Amino acid sequence: MFGSDISRRGFLRGSAVLGAGLALPSLSACSEAPAAAAMSSLHTLLPGRVVRPGDPDYTSFVTPWNLAWQKARPKAAAIVRASSTDDVAAALRWAHETGTAIVARSGGHSYAGYSTTPGVVIDVSRMTSVGFNPSTNVATLGGGVRNIHAGAEFQKIGRTITHGRCYQVGYAGLVLGGGIGFNVRRLGMTCDQLIETTVVLASGEVVRAAPDENSDLLWAAKGGGGGNFGIHTSFVVQTYDAPPVTVFDILWRENVEQVLRWLLDFVRYAPREFGAKITVRATPQPSGPPRVTVGLLGQLVGTLDETTALLDPAFAIAEPDRSYGFLREASYWDGQKRLSDEGTPERSAERSVFINNSLGDDGVALILDHMRKWPPHKGLAQWKAFATGGAANDVAPTATAFVHRQSWMLAAIDVAWEGDDPESDISTSLGWLDEFHAALAPYGSGAYQNFLDPRERDWAQAYYGENFGRLVNVKRKYDPRNVFHNGQSIPLDVMAFVNSR
Ligand SMILES: Cc1cc2nc3c(=O)[nH]c(=O)nc-3n(C[C@H](O)[C@H](O)[C@H](O)COP(=O)(O)OP(=O)(O)OC[C@H]3O[C@@H](n4cnc5c(N)ncnc54)[C@H](O)[C@@H]3O)c2cc1C
Repeated sequence: MFGSDISRRGFLRGSAVLGAGLALPSLSACSEAPAAAAMSSLHTLLPGRVVRPGDPDYTSFVTPWNLAWQKARPKAAAIVRASSTDDVAAALRWAHETGTAIVARSGGHSYAGYSTTPGVVIDVSRMTSVGFNPSTNVATLGGGVRNIHAGAEFQKIGRTITHGRCYQVGYAGLVLGGGIGFNVRRLGMTCDQLIETTVVLASGEVVRAAPDENSDLLWAAKGGGGGNFGIHTSFVVQTYDAPPVTVFDILWRENVEQVLRWLLDFVRYAPREFGAKITVRATPQPSGPPRVTVGLLGQLVGTLDETTALLDPAFAIAEPDRSYGFLREASYWDGQKRLSDEGTPERSAERSVFINNSLGDDGVALILDHMRKWPPHKGLAQWKAFATGGAANDVAPTATAFVHRQSWMLAAIDVAWEGDDPESDISTSLGWLDEFHAALAPYGSGAYQNFLDPRERDWAQAYYGENFGRLVNVKRKYDPRNVFHNGQSIPLDVMAFVNSR
């Protein structure tokens, strides 16, 4: 019925280096690289686990996923490739004794390039074990598990969680910042499924965060953001049945205004079994404004007939491009293979807002007007919206650190560019991004802490809202020396933070 799969950003593959145009937050204290003697003691402490400049893997570890930060972010003096909680604890004790700056890294997909430091990166990506207890349906994931590892193991046992669709994204970053995927309306946020986690604190002390022990740290781990309190080396999570699905990737090129209007109304009241992302994309044309298309990617836990019945009104508004995409039944994990993406590194900036209000005709016009006015260059601009709500909104805003519990959609605007684009093109695109984001803001509130946005000045309010003060208390208790810090990390003191803005 539909044609081939087309990668989200297939045409945006570049290799040159550019960090232009992005607003850089300042790096915090403790940015000293380790002295030679300290480095040699690290080698002795963790033989075979330390990667240094000149080693074969070094470049791949210091290259951020978002290449826009490649020049702007510091390159680590070394990377510790931890294989166990003991390795992480030893590295943290060493950093404590030598006064070396450290940062945690799992999948390395921080939008803002925060998983790096001039000191030592403690990389947990070797810790990919997935254990499963069939009597409780609870799984234990190592701190370095990525979507691809979790998917491979869960497929064997017919289980699932709320996961993302980009294979290489780390579960650690995903769960610590909330976690949105096509199961979110049915099963809740990824962080809602977290039962317990093992955390190595800056001192090297290993603690368990669970409902009966360090429950404040568990609360903070559910949406308080990665890189704030300690290094998580394992996650105990509730799993769910992985039922058959109908997966779809549908593209409309005609009548996009009416199609978008219908889709947005539909998603707001869709059944919980429905999970989707709507994409409005602008494609540069040889002359005139960019061409705008509307895409729908996702799944229904249900049959093809049920899915078609739900989407028939959209098909009646405009015939989709039948040479593109797919609409078909699949077993759960086969379906995920069709929906998944490798997530190739790119140069991009993204701004988000949780939509709580109706977008209506005005909102649709606003989105399409902005997309049509995108100042095109070789890059990409898209407005995308992830269906939220459903089970994610069954949880109270203060029950976990993930505060955004009133939205029905997460909207995000992103622009991407290539390494050889002129700086003036990039800054024009970024100006358009800021203006579009400001125009969309009245329809919602907040911003997604997993789509880190260094352009967001009021990020503490946007990411954490009324939970920010409580997160600061957790920070003071578990990381009183602010060892874990980045440009948007939880501070030690609310008033000092406010006064410094
Ligand atoms: C291509 C792509 C696709 C995405 N898709 C989705 C999606 O479908 N749904 C969604 O919700 N989000 C998605 N995201 C956002 C993603 O959830 C965040 O970027 C997330 O923080 C990435 O986690 P990571 O482990 O890969 O990144 P990293 O860069 O390794 O880590 C992110 C942050 O967490 C810290 N951190 C890493 N590991 C640990 C640890 N073990 N303990 C403590 N702190 C740690 C780091 O220091 C850093 O500050 C996507 C991002 C990208 C780039």
